[in-house]
Amino acid sequence: MTPEVERARSELIERLMLTDPSYDESFDRIVRLLKALTGASAAAFTVLDGGRQFYKAHDGLSARETPRDISFCTHTIEQTDLLVVRDARHDPRFASSPLVCTEDGHCFYAGMPVRAPSGLPLGALCILDAQPREIGLREREAIADLTGALEEAIMLRSLAVIDPLTGLFNRRHFEDTVGREWLRGFAAQKPLSLFIVDVDHFKKYNDAYGHPAGDACLRAVAGALRIGARRVGDVLARIGGEEFVLLLPGTTMADALEVSDRIREAIALLELPHSASPLGTVTISMGVSLVPDPTAETLASAMARADASLYRAKQHGRDCVVIADD
Ligand code: GH3
Ligand code: MG
Ligand code: MG
Repeated sequence: MTPEVERARSELIERLMLTDPSYDESFDRIVRLLKALTGASAAAFTVLDGGRQFYKAHDGLSARETPRDISFCTHTIEQTDLLVVRDARHDPRFASSPLVCTEDGHCFYAGMPVRAPSGLPLGALCILDAQPREIGLREREAIADLTGALEEAIMLRSLAVIDPLTGLFNRRHFEDTVGREWLRGFAAQKPLSLFIVDVDHFKKYNDAYGHPAGDACLRAVAGALRIGARRVGDVLARIGGEEFVLLLPGTTMADALEVSDRIREAIALLELPHSASPLGTVTISMGVSLVPDPTAETLASAMARADASLYRAKQHGRDCVVIADD
């Protein structure tokens, strides 16, 4: 697989939160059912994230993750159909893998690639056995059917959390997860900063260049914002037509300024002409609120302050950032 494919896979895995340790009943149920239907000693849904294989759901295994290069599933995603390894001890690809030759290792493997709605393989649904064995038609059908069910569950997850135009988190996901994490997760990382970003004169952009070009512009802006939100724990979402929110845990005023510079630079580098704007190119305005202690203010209040700052940035002539530090 090329580095681009690997990067795209890792990004999607992150956006779908597939390496999040959070419990997901639909994935677990599928894996339990597969193990029961096939009588295998273990079943798992793995995701292949960079150099690691992460067991998103598993039944009958103790490890949570393993290095990717020793895994069966990394070979599975190279093909479209079921990979069957009847006796890994006699397969040069796996014979020396610690997943095979150790005391609690597995000789038998059968796995099917699991794809995202885009077709990109994310990992595999597989069964394992300590002893070498054959695989029958009914077991093959069980793996294929449950892979379909798993892909549907992934599609539902992506519809629930991802904005289809930009690939960023959608508003509902932002409100749900950040609302939940506000007091718990972020409190330890105080202070934090919250950006609301709005594209300038975007109605005129649509009017001048057409709606499809407007959509392409929003995708480009989303890409530039990703450059700003590149730390683990940063949250970036599209919360309205041409409005985005960026939450940066553990950032001071100086950090917020640095990030806003980085974003403005990334937007400027896009060099998107906007003949109907007095500014000549596509620009953004940003309103930022600094939250010294997330336990002392609600998300709604921090959003309202960022929004008020954004309003001031617009009044200031746009293409600028206003940071509220009250
Ligand atoms: P300002 O500089 O004050 O922000 O002006 P504006 O024109 O950007 O703001 P306004 O709220 O008047 O217009 C926003 C426009 O965004 C109007 C709407 O047609 C457009 N828009 C909203 N969602 C989408 C979308 O998904 N795709 C496209 N192409 N345009 C969208
Ligand atoms: Mg707007
Ligand atoms: Mg706007």
